[in-house]
Amino acid sequence: MRRVSVFGATGSVGESTLDLLAQRPDIKVAVLTGGRNVARLAEQARAHGADLAVTAFEECYRDLKAALAGSGIEVAGGPGAVVEAAYRPADWVMSAIVGAAGLAPGFAALSQGRTLALANKESLVTAGPLLLAEARAHGATVLPVDSEHSAVFQALVGEDIAAVEKVILTASGGGLRDWPLDKLAEASVADAASHPNWSMGQRITIDSASMFNKAMEVIEAREFFGLAPDQIEVLIHPQSLVHALVGFNDGALMAHLGAPDMRHPIGYALNWPDRAHLPVSRLDLAKVARLDFAAPDTRRYPALELARQVMAAGGASGAVFNAAKETALDQFIAGHIRFTDMAPVVAETLDICAARTDMGRVPTTLADVLEIDAEARVLAGQAGLRRHRSHSGAA
Ligand code: NDP
Repeated sequence: MRRVSVFGATGSVGESTLDLLAQRPDIKVAVLTGGRNVARLAEQARAHGADLAVTAFEECYRDLKAALAGSGIEVAGGPGAVVEAAYRPADWVMSAIVGAAGLAPGFAALSQGRTLALANKESLVTAGPLLLAEARAHGATVLPVDSEHSAVFQALVGEDIAAVEKVILTASGGGLRDWPLDKLAEASVADAASHPNWSMGQRITIDSASMFNKAMEVIEAREFFGLAPDQIEVLIHPQSLVHALVGFNDGALMAHLGAPDMRHPIGYALNWPDRAHLPVSRLDLAKVARLDFAAPDTRRYPALELARQVMAAGGASGAVFNAAKETALDQFIAGHIRFTDMAPVVAETLDICAARTDMGRVPTTLADVLEIDAEARVLAGQAGLRRHRSHSGAA
């Protein structure tokens, strides 16, 4: 029987994955991991008859153990236990932990030659070349789960990548798309965390409003498909029905359309290379009636320019970018900096790191990446603090 493990099971992508797996009695759920939501993790583990449930936080282990008492399900806790779980036998592994914490389990799964369904954006942005080399070295497969990358991947079936002129990733523009530019600095966490079309976790929804999410996706697309930076474009598409387009050298433009429902790209990765029935709503184009597209305004979305800077610089800059972005996001959520401070904090951190010879090294191991990540978080934290002080008028 096919065995599947879900890392980040209690999150938005994890829940969608389990929703699909609930309809697949032909698949055995091996490992489920979560973070602090141990009550939900225990519920999921019981409902799916998992072999092992792991919380990434040692302090949550006792609660998980208690919640699964008498179930016969093995329980573990701590970041090391999450990585160990990735060495367990599985045919297909969903990487849906949020943030840099998703890297090590992904690498572990690839070292075992698994098929890795990659939702965790941070993996390709911070360690793309290393991750793909690990997959090649162990005969493992990486499948994209981000809806845009899945769309490109599907449009490329049977095509020669050399015939691709460009890839266009679409973006809804996020919850603040229509706000006046001079009001953006006043956007609250709740304003930024409301998405017009997609239902996602809080962090990715705010990243969608700032377009840091799209910036990450541009870098991901470059790494995954091996494209040149100027082959990747972004278009605002408010309806979120066209997920991506691929332009070929004969002038053809292939678009992937579908309802904004993550169960489609997850289900595609689960059934790949085949297609299977999925319980997602079908588009009625006559009802949709119109599809709008517009070029993004880089004054509203400075993160897109930062992505270009990162792709031009290469080396450690992806890891610095992601770490600084996560830190700036934490500071915004905590109320320490404004929505419009996030991009300057990331830009400043990139500049500081570019000027430091010790931060300019090309990471050659996962440990290198994690070290750069940790250093960049400290620098971004300091940059955020400076902005906080300048707003509050402190010295
Ligand atoms: P969520 O925040 O909804 O879920 C994150 C998951 O990771 C939860 O299971 C959470 O556990 C767990 N987690 C949190 N911190 C840690 C940690 N330190 N170590 C291990 N596990 C941890 O995120 P999403 O599902 O929205 O996104 C997951 C990833 O997929 C992200 O990288 C995101 O960018 C990407 N992605 C998401 C999409 C979406 O539609 N949501 C679309 C495409 C990509 P708990 O909740 O129990 O604390």
